[in-house]
Amino acid sequence: MHYDRDRLLALDLEHVWHPYTQMRDYARRDPVIIWRGEGRRLQDVDGRWYWDGVSSIWLNVHGHNVPELNRAIEEQLQRVAHATLLGQANVPAILLAERLVRIAPPGLRKVFYSDNGSGAVEAALKMAVQYWYQSGRPEKHRVLSFVGGYHGDTLGAVAVAPVPAFHEPFYPLLRDPIQAPYPDRYDCPGCRGPCRLECLNRLEELLRSHAHELAAVFVEPLVQGVGGIRVMPDGYLRALRELCTRYEVLLVADEVATGFGRTGRMFACDHEGISPDLMAVGKGITGGYLPLAATLATDRIYEAFLGEYAERKAFFHGHSYTGNPLGCAVALANLDLLEALLPQLPARERLIAHELERFRQLPFVGQVRQKGFMVGIELVGDPQRREPFPWEARAGWLVAWRARELGLLIRPYAHVVIFMPPLASTEAELQEMLALLYEAHQRAIPDLERAARGEWS
Ligand code: PMP
Repeated sequence: MHYDRDRLLALDLEHVWHPYTQMRDYARRDPVIIWRGEGRRLQDVDGRWYWDGVSSIWLNVHGHNVPELNRAIEEQLQRVAHATLLGQANVPAILLAERLVRIAPPGLRKVFYSDNGSGAVEAALKMAVQYWYQSGRPEKHRVLSFVGGYHGDTLGAVAVAPVPAFHEPFYPLLRDPIQAPYPDRYDCPGCRGPCRLECLNRLEELLRSHAHELAAVFVEPLVQGVGGIRVMPDGYLRALRELCTRYEVLLVADEVATGFGRTGRMFACDHEGISPDLMAVGKGITGGYLPLAATLATDRIYEAFLGEYAERKAFFHGHSYTGNPLGCAVALANLDLLEALLPQLPARERLIAHELERFRQLPFVGQVRQKGFMVGIELVGDPQRREPFPWEARAGWLVAWRARELGLLIRPYAHVVIFMPPLASTEAELQEMLALLYEAHQRAIPDLERAARGEWS
């Protein structure tokens, strides 16, 4: 296949408005234009191969062009591509719901489909609020979330946890959430010594004083993703579960980023043996193939929505593509492969941890964080004072641009370099990707030195 790269670039610049991107940068630095993928690599229209070190934004599980996943879609395509779930059912959506309930933390027994992670979070928010409304407690409609949390970009999801850098213009449209400090060992003064989970005291204070108006606590279990791969101390999530139960506040686990093996177990909640009241999943659910997401709920929540037609207790929420059969079919095939892959993940995680050791000695590295296949390397202008680079320095990008030169695609968040390889990456592939990342960092040192002096463009 031959593509006219220059023409595609011109058309892209002319017509495509890319997400999360200053479009002026596109004119200055050509985007990679992908035309195909194979295994853990993507190829651009010039024939150059790149490692997918960001799992195509944290969702790819088995790689690209996977025969089993392709086949699942092709076979479903011969039957029906889409049929609505409003008042009807379809075969893959039924089978996937049963399968999700089987693998989810115990107690989550109902599956509500949507088509992106933000939508799944938003459905959870509306379910939580409507649950209390229909349980005779309409005053319980606020949410508590964590500083640094991220739950998506649609307005409902933004209302759960606005990110100042992204969402400031919309503050007037939002009801601000109550925010608890995130239990971050790197920044927490209480964590300088052995962790005693002192941060839980503050959380409990907030819950105690706001329980009467709180519908739910939203948490990214174990790892804040967009916040910079910040890993919770052991035991925190379990304690959060207990506090939510004690203060009668629903716990919503946003497993959009952490779900489907990303942290090494099927769900992050599994590490601490907890069950949330609601759980949002997306991203890896289809192995990174098609836009599908879901909100899982307990029977207790579901039952608050049961009533006579005229009572208007139904969950009046849904989208055109809810329960899309192609997405559900590929999700089922993804789960077949993933269940076989899970036992192999611990060895690969250890390999990543081992390879990451030498990154700690690199200049400008403040902290290296890892949970499963989620890695964040925090860059700091002054490691002694742990002073992060300012946003404008684009420190993470200085490394990411060098990585691209070397054939590795990653996407940082501000001053945190994020590495998120597909779960099926072999040990040799992980070693190669991490060697390229190390070299990229070395190449970026002069750029980082300039940035540390306040010179950035
Ligand atoms: N929740 C979390 C924890 C996420 O990381 C993301 C996306 N990065 C979302 C929600 C939103 O998902 P989507 O981009 O599919 O809307």
